[in-house]
Amino acid sequence: MEKLILSEVEVEAICERLASEMDKQMDKDGSNLPVLLGIMNGALPFMYQLVKSIKHPNEIDTMQVSSYNGTVSTGELIVKKKPERNLEGKDVYIIEDIIDTGLTMHLLRKYIMDVYKPRHLYVVIMIKRHVDKPHYQEVADFTGVVLEEQRYIVGYGFDYYGIGRCLPYVFVPSEEDFKTWDAILTKDNPDYKNKKK
Ligand code: 5GP
Repeated sequence: MEKLILSEVEVEAICERLASEMDKQMDKDGSNLPVLLGIMNGALPFMYQLVKSIKHPNEIDTMQVSSYNGTVSTGELIVKKKPERNLEGKDVYIIEDIIDTGLTMHLLRKYIMDVYKPRHLYVVIMIKRHVDKPHYQEVADFTGVVLEEQRYIVGYGFDYYGIGRCLPYVFVPSEEDFKTWDAILTKDNPDYKNKKK
């Protein structure tokens, strides 16, 4: 590990605070049964920790998406898994791991509004990366932490080609970590190095 970003205890404290803020919002909105929409796979450990502290009755659903950036100003959302609930007229909370450039959230928010027409749409984010000149002014409604660190992070849902999601803390991996993971991934799939490119 090069640098610890968030310990397990810190993530737990963040989740407790966010849950209490979300509870207040749900009470204020008079939400019947809000939907917590976890974005797979990265947000699953975060959502699991978060729901433990939410007192308001709620439903859990999931979506899987990725974004493809064609040019600086346009992007395309690839929907790999749709939600199962009918989100129309519902209070929906998107639960996501990170807003980095903001492209994914920019496209996802628009897609959910257009296609599912929820009553309210909130964004809950574990980490918002600080950027000086953001391409997309994506503001989360509920933010765990703003991160100044610009290097790639792993753990607590964040992966390196599928590895490291289940580690209970967020960190900047060392060169040694990447070498170890590359060896494991190459053993698992000799074609992995080509796929990486
Ligand atoms: P954005 O569209 O905001 O640039 O990127 C969003 C997605 O990129 C996130 O949902 C996450 O999957 C991935 N991502 C961005 N930064 C990191 C990082 O430092 N580590 C990992 N593992 N994934 C990241």
